[in-house]
Amino acid sequence: MSVGSSGSLYSFSFSEEHLALVESVEGYLSRLGSKRQELLNDIFEKGEYPDELSQAMVDLGLFGALIPAQYGGSGLGLLGMALAMEKFASFGLANTLALLTTMDAMAIQRGGTEDQKQLLLPQIAEGKIKSAFAITEADAGTNSFRIALSAKETGDGGFVLNGEKAWITGVDRADHLLVVSRTTSYQRVKESGLPKSFGMSLFFIDTATKGITKSKMATMGIEGFNQFQLFFDDVEVPKDALIGEKDLGAAVLFEALNPERIIAASFAVGMVDYFLSKSVNYANERRVFSDTPIGSYQAVQHPLAKIRVTQEGARLLTYQAASAFDQNAPMSIVARYANMAKYLASEVGFEAADRAIQTHGGNGFVRDFGIIQMLAPARLAKTAPINNEMILNFIAEHELKLPRSY
Ligand SMILES: Cc1cc2nc3c(=O)[nH]c(=O)nc-3n(C[C@H](O)[C@H](O)[C@H](O)COP(=O)(O)OP(=O)(O)OC[C@H]3O[C@@H](n4cnc5c(N)ncnc54)[C@H](O)[C@@H]3O)c2cc1C
Repeated sequence: MSVGSSGSLYSFSFSEEHLALVESVEGYLSRLGSKRQELLNDIFEKGEYPDELSQAMVDLGLFGALIPAQYGGSGLGLLGMALAMEKFASFGLANTLALLTTMDAMAIQRGGTEDQKQLLLPQIAEGKIKSAFAITEADAGTNSFRIALSAKETGDGGFVLNGEKAWITGVDRADHLLVVSRTTSYQRVKESGLPKSFGMSLFFIDTATKGITKSKMATMGIEGFNQFQLFFDDVEVPKDALIGEKDLGAAVLFEALNPERIIAASFAVGMVDYFLSKSVNYANERRVFSDTPIGSYQAVQHPLAKIRVTQEGARLLTYQAASAFDQNAPMSIVARYANMAKYLASEVGFEAADRAIQTHGGNGFVRDFGIIQMLAPARLAKTAPINNEMILNFIAEHELKLPRSY
């Protein structure tokens, strides 16, 4: 394969289940009618993502999309999940807790024992367990290998967790938490010459476990959910909370990161629809010189048209990535498309927010127009779950075979 070529292409097509799902989601969203504005107010004014929306997603089989039927899942796959989440996001109703729970379910599926899968996956698919994900620490953001939260084995095979996490989304709304810890410290790994991914261990624990305290952070970016600093003070967890093998959790974690990026990309692609439809409606109505709508000016049209083109590229990459994942393509192929999709979708998502503001002039800053409060969520996608510089690092290293830069 030549450097930078597309290599193995995994073609995608929509099954009857996918098409039926899209129809169901569109039907649900259109039936919301004026209720949609109430839901948007809950998210963007009250800061509370409505439970009824999460329940609707459970009923549509979305919390179980990546879970096989034998564990109670809908088996809609990541392509189904991406198609549905894009639609919800196009209505301004993206659900980050659904994204986090899906990635945690993936980790359980790839790393969990048969007993863990049978116990946890059906409850996730039924919406009885919703979960947050905790890897970031104040001193270990982009470099997650540097995390310090420690998990020490106790005599009975259980573990005791000590340390801190930060920016953890939705812990107050989640029943469980997938927490990434170190069973062998980063320092020790470096001194021993072991791979830096060694020594990481995953635990799936109840958020109410004794010894965990949380402090709400004053953040924006995921309206409807809050971010928390978490403090783990001698938190005792049983042996069966360990997902995957002790010290080898990174491999399991990597399996869950591509779905996270792909779902994040679908959010951003859907958000572009949200911004474009508002921009087009406004541009068709607003007249400032004689009776000409501002939408007839090319200076207004062309940026919107360019966004539409880029959005389609991002959408196809997202479907390509999701489909490659569903077809069990090698992780390197899934990662290629997942990273490209997340990059392009987040860039065009932010551009669409910016252009929607510009098209609306001063009204772009009036909350009633429903744009300015979407600016932080659109911008977040360039930074989290992973920043776009790291995505470009990945593409440079793995696609272009350039030296690793960090
Ligand atoms: C609203 C919100 C919700 C979040 N939710 C969660 C959550 O639920 N769970 C969780 O674990 N985390 C969560 N995070 C954390 C998020 O994943 C991190 O903020 C992100 O990974 C970046 O880490 P950092 O903030 O420490 O940035 P840093 O690592 O300090 O990086 C700062 C900047 O430096 C640049 N940079 C860093 N390294 C490189 C490099 N090697 N090459 C080029 N440029 C580089 C990038 O531009 C980056 O944005 C959330 C964050 C936000 C803002």
